[in-house]
Amino acid sequence: MPGCCGNDAKFDGMSDVYKRRLWIVIALNATMFAVEMTAGQLAKSEALKADALDFLGDALTYGISLAVIGASIRARTNAALAKGISLFLMGAWVFGSTVYRVFYVGVPEAEIMGIIGALALATNLASVFLIVSYKDGDANVRSVWLCSRNDAIGNVAVMIAALGVWGMASGWPDLIVAAIMASLFLSSSFQIIRQALAERREVVDHQHA
Ligand SMILES: [Zn+2]
Repeated sequence: MPGCCGNDAKFDGMSDVYKRRLWIVIALNATMFAVEMTAGQLAKSEALKADALDFLGDALTYGISLAVIGASIRARTNAALAKGISLFLMGAWVFGSTVYRVFYVGVPEAEIMGIIGALALATNLASVFLIVSYKDGDANVRSVWLCSRNDAIGNVAVMIAALGVWGMASGWPDLIVAAIMASLFLSSSFQIIRQALAERREVVDHQHA
């Protein structure tokens, strides 16, 4: 889910070791976003593209959280709003191209789907290991686990879709998984926008009080 990871974590006053680990996690997530999105485009798999969105969301969440340490509340809410809007636009694009594929059906490359899905799962497991194994940090271990579990379910769903595409020689398993994942992604990016707007209003109210 976009921004499911790290939302509850406190980023102020953390150690350099933990900060360095978060940068590695951001780099891993950003790289996998590019890899999975490109693979999805080349293999004509909408499920891969929908799964890639989560890596973008998590990279942005961690990246913005690190970038706005010590910044004003106004700067924080503006960053959250920009994140929500960009995630919403990306989600809408993937959802739109999934709907398009319903009418122009093709069969995605099942092997690429399976391999990239497994690579995505490995990346998510590596990320959770980097964060959770750092015990002195203030990472909220439970929320990291919950978030990573959801991400892993998405990765496994892509692999199951790959199996379905391969077994049935049909694009439908790919489209169904993509439609579910893209709509979940759209609704949570919408929630991020709503929350950011509410926080911005609060800031303005305080200034006028
Ligand atoms: Zn996530």
